[in-house]
Amino acid sequence: MKLAGVMGWPVAHSRSPALHGWWLRRYGIDGAYVPFAVRPERLEQAIRALPALGFAGCNVTIPHKEAALRIVDRADATARRIGAVNTIVVGPDGSLSGSNTDAFGFVESLGPDWRPDAGPAVVMGAGGAARAIIVALADRGVPEIRIVNRTLARAEALAAELGGRAVPWDRRETALEGAALLVNATSQGMTGQPPLDLSLERLPKSATVIDTVYVPLETPLLAAARARGNRAVDGLGMLLHQARPGFEAWFGVAPEVTPALREAIEATL
Ligand code: NAP
Repeated sequence: MKLAGVMGWPVAHSRSPALHGWWLRRYGIDGAYVPFAVRPERLEQAIRALPALGFAGCNVTIPHKEAALRIVDRADATARRIGAVNTIVVGPDGSLSGSNTDAFGFVESLGPDWRPDAGPAVVMGAGGAARAIIVALADRGVPEIRIVNRTLARAEALAAELGGRAVPWDRRETALEGAALLVNATSQGMTGQPPLDLSLERLPKSATVIDTVYVPLETPLLAAARARGNRAVDGLGMLLHQARPGFEAWFGVAPEVTPALREAIEATL
């Protein structure tokens, strides 16, 4: 039996067991994917135990992604630039390879018609999700990345490190002018949080608006975007697509994100 799992603290909120479990059943694979509640101070021990336990690898989620980068034996270039690992694969020799599939998941969730060269992108936020998204956009050749964050210094640090231009929070509506893509990578709009405080008036109607928040699926930002005719993409696609490379590496089947999978995971939100 092939084994994988997810390490988090806490881990109960993670949708990864439901997602990988659905694929395991769908493809009739003799495997299991289990949640591990791992305290930060025991993360290294837990990750190092994977080969001895016969695991093919695991995902790591909040708050372990940055620490995991330091623990694995090697990490790919994308994970190193993002500064975080979310997928670990155990090699035949027992060594641990780390990667970060959030950038891949983000781009895949935009769909096959998304064109990186369509125009500037505005990224709201400068946390972990924003980092992965900025790396994804820069790697795909987006011509201009405007990073807008409540704390300007964090946006400036990201722009200096990864590319892009930092925009002060009070200039966020001006930053929408001429944009082809708007990304919410803040926590605003999540259930229990206020909506993202942003008028879309200056955003071109041709722009795509994507929210990384997926609880609720339809955030006030996405509802406002749809109402004025912008294409709106929810955060569930990113979550589903980021899981594909890990599943393929551990279980040997390239899984598909289908409407039936979306429906099954939506039911858990
Ligand atoms: P994080 O590192 O804690 O960053 C949070 C960001 O939100 C920061 O930029 C912060 O700005 C901003 N923020 C918080 N409160 C704010 C407020 N009142 N007004 C304006 N900005 C505010 O979090 P993260 O891990 O990047 O996660 C961000 C979002 O992405 C979450 O909603 C998470 O659910 C989502 N996410 C989704 C996926 C997916 O697969 N769909 C994957 C990862 C994350 P400051 O710097 O000023 O504090």
